[in-house]
Amino acid sequence: MRVRSAVSPLRRGVATTAPVIRQALPTVDALVADLRPEDPVHCIRPATLAATARDFVAAFPGDVLYAVKCNPDPAVLRALWDGGVRHFDCASPAEVALVRTMFGDAHIHFMHPVKARGAIREAWGRHGVRDFVLDSEAELAKILAETGDHAGIGLIVRLALPKGEAVLDLSGKFGAEAEEAVALLRAARPHAVRLGVAFHVGSQCLDPLAWRRAMDVVRGVIRSAGVAIDIVDVGGGFPVAYPDVELPDFGAILAEIEDGFDRLGQPDARLWAEPGRALVAAGGSVVVQVQARRGDALYINDGVYGSLADAGALAFRYPVRCLRPEGEAPDDVLRGFTFFGPTCDSADAMRGPFHLPADIGEGDWIEIFQLGAYGACLRTGFNGFDRARIVEVSDSSQAADEPVFAQAA
Ligand SMILES: *Cc1c(COP(=O)(O)O)cnc(C)c1O
Repeated sequence: MRVRSAVSPLRRGVATTAPVIRQALPTVDALVADLRPEDPVHCIRPATLAATARDFVAAFPGDVLYAVKCNPDPAVLRALWDGGVRHFDCASPAEVALVRTMFGDAHIHFMHPVKARGAIREAWGRHGVRDFVLDSEAELAKILAETGDHAGIGLIVRLALPKGEAVLDLSGKFGAEAEEAVALLRAARPHAVRLGVAFHVGSQCLDPLAWRRAMDVVRGVIRSAGVAIDIVDVGGGFPVAYPDVELPDFGAILAEIEDGFDRLGQPDARLWAEPGRALVAAGGSVVVQVQARRGDALYINDGVYGSLADAGALAFRYPVRCLRPEGEAPDDVLRGFTFFGPTCDSADAMRGPFHLPADIGEGDWIEIFQLGAYGACLRTGFNGFDRARIVEVSDSSQAADEPVFAQAA
C-alpha cells in the first residue's frame, strides 16, 4: 500500500514528486484498522485497472485511447499502461505534459475541439502530439496556423449527434452538424496524413443502438464528403455497473460498432475508442467515516465538493460496504441511507439510497466503490475539506467481482 496526500496531479504540476509512503498493508480492511482515518482515503487498485485495460484493449477492434480527464492520477495512468494502453486522449496542456512526462513513447491525441493557440503550439512543438480534433473552420485554421508546416498531422472532425439517452448527454456543447462536417472533411483532407471523424454518444450510455445511430451519421457525412477516411473514432461513453443499472452487453455495443464500420465502406480506416469511465471506475474507491447519524441520514467526511460530485446533482448511486474493525459485527440487515457531505452547503447532499447495515453509526467507515472514474479528480478545497489521502491497495474490490464493464460474449 502506498499513501500520499491527494492533490490533483494536474494542480500539482507535472513533476509529480509528492511524498509516497510505502506501507505493507495490502487491503482496505487493514488500512482502516491500522490508520483509523478521519479524512477520506482514496484507494487505487492498480491490478484491477491493469486487468480492465487488458480486457478492453483485447476486445476492441482498434486503438484504445484513454480519456485522461476521467482520472489523471499517475498511479492510474501507470496501471493502464501496464494493461496495454498506449494511446491517450488529452484535452489540456497539463494533461498532455503529464502523459508525455510519464511515457515518452505514448501516442497523445489532443481531442478538445476548442483549444488555445498556445496549447496547440506546445502540444505540437514540445510534446510531439500529431492528432488534433476540430469542429469548426476557425479551429481548423487555428490548428494549421499553429503547427507550422504541419507535416504528418492528423485531423479529426468531431460530429454533433442528436440528443441521446446517455446518463450524461454531451450533444449540446461540441460537434459539427452534418453539412459543416462535410465541408470540414473536404477542407482538411489535403493537409492531413490521417483524416478522421469522431463522436461521443454521451457518458454512461446504456443503449448499444446509440453507437449504431452515430455510425449512421458518420456514414452519411463520409458519403457526402466523398473523401477517403483514415480514422473512425467512436468516442467514450461505455457504461459500467452501478446499483440497479441494467448494463448492456459489451459485445452488443461492439457488434453495433463493427456493423456500422462495415457499412461505411472504408475498409482501410482504423477504429479508435476513447473510453474513460469503463477503464477506471472499478479501480478506485473512497473510504469515508460516519461523523453523525440522524435517522436515515449519514453525515460523512466526503461529499459533492469532494469525490462524490456525481452522487449529488446527478444522484449517482455507488456500491458501498461498512467497515467496523472493532466491536460488534455490523448488522446483517441493510437499510437505505442518504448522505450529507462535510461542507456547510445544503447542496452537499447525496440522495442515494445507499444500502448499509441498519445499525451503522458514528465512527463506522464506509467504502464507496466504482469511484475510479470522475471521483477524486473532481475534488475541490471548498470549505477547507481537502485533506484526503491516496493509497494504492492490492486487494480486489467487491465491485470487481461483478463485470466492471460489460464483457464481450
Ligand atoms: C470525457 C470524454 C471521454 C470519456 O468519456 P467516458 O464517458 O468517461 O467514457 C472521451 N472522449 C471525449 C472527447 C470526452 O470528452
